[in-house]
Amino acid sequence: MKKKLGLIGEKLPHSLSPKLHKEIFKNLDIQGDYSLIELKENQLEKFLTKDIYSYLGVNITIPYKIKSMDFVEVSKEAQEIGAINTILVKDGKLFGYNTDYFGFKRMLEENNIFVDGKDTFILGAGGGARAVIKYFLDRDVKSITIVVRNIQKAKIQLDSLIKNKENIEIIDFKTLEYGNYNGYIVVNCTPVGMYPNVENSPITKEVSKNFENSVDLIYNPLETKFLKFARENNKNSLNGMYMLIAQGVASEEIWNNINISKEVIEKIIKSFE
Ligand code: NAP
Repeated sequence: MKKKLGLIGEKLPHSLSPKLHKEIFKNLDIQGDYSLIELKENQLEKFLTKDIYSYLGVNITIPYKIKSMDFVEVSKEAQEIGAINTILVKDGKLFGYNTDYFGFKRMLEENNIFVDGKDTFILGAGGGARAVIKYFLDRDVKSITIVVRNIQKAKIQLDSLIKNKENIEIIDFKTLEYGNYNGYIVVNCTPVGMYPNVENSPITKEVSKNFENSVDLIYNPLETKFLKFARENNKNSLNGMYMLIAQGVASEEIWNNINISKEVIEKIIKSFE
């Protein structure tokens, strides 16, 4: 019998997830069926208390990544990040994980970007940024500078994640531009530069010079303006496709209790190019 998997969210017309999981099934010979499950807000509870038990697991996307936590046993990293995007159904229980965290971790490590003891910069303070902040904290980076357009709002949003941490600073984009900042890595966790607004970048080419590695969570387009600036400055750049694939792979690893190799990830990335 095929393993029943899927993605729950409110509106899912452009999701890449079915294609991604089909590629994983093909490469690993998994008999799986990954479906899109659109749920209205008033249908979420019934799904997570009843219907889900016919599945091996599901991914979760906007707007249910936080609400779903009420129905599952949440892993430590997901608890701190404050969101889940994967549920495993096992022995009649539901377990929640945040595989953006593992996708980001794997993307950096397999591209030889090691942040331990380094000065790091994160643009944005939303869901993606929270997974990146948690990973940087776990790696014992020297400092984290979070760059946002509204400092007060970010302080409130990030409170549980960053309270009592002395090496974290929150600044605005103007301060980044006119202050004397430089670091090992800058990660774009804003949607600025995403299709169709491909001419936008969260930072200027001049500011981009201050960072050895520019990493974008955006995967469409593959080279955002932000990454083009880094390339033109002869700096290292990395797009969000690896993370997208790696977070899906991490879900399959959890559901099937397996390890998936770097070679399989690279094969799947090629199928998306
Ligand atoms: P989110 O929760 O909505 O957060 C977006 C953040 O960007 C917020 O802090 C927001 O600030 C900021 N922002 C929005 N517009 C901005 C602008 N014009 N200038 C400066 N800051 C701006 O979104 P998310 O889920 O973190 O996703 C962010 C991006 O990462 C998206 O492009 C998403 O596709 C990508 N992503 C990719 C992966 C992957 O697997 N590759 C995983 C997760 C996310 P305000 O609070 O001020 O609005």
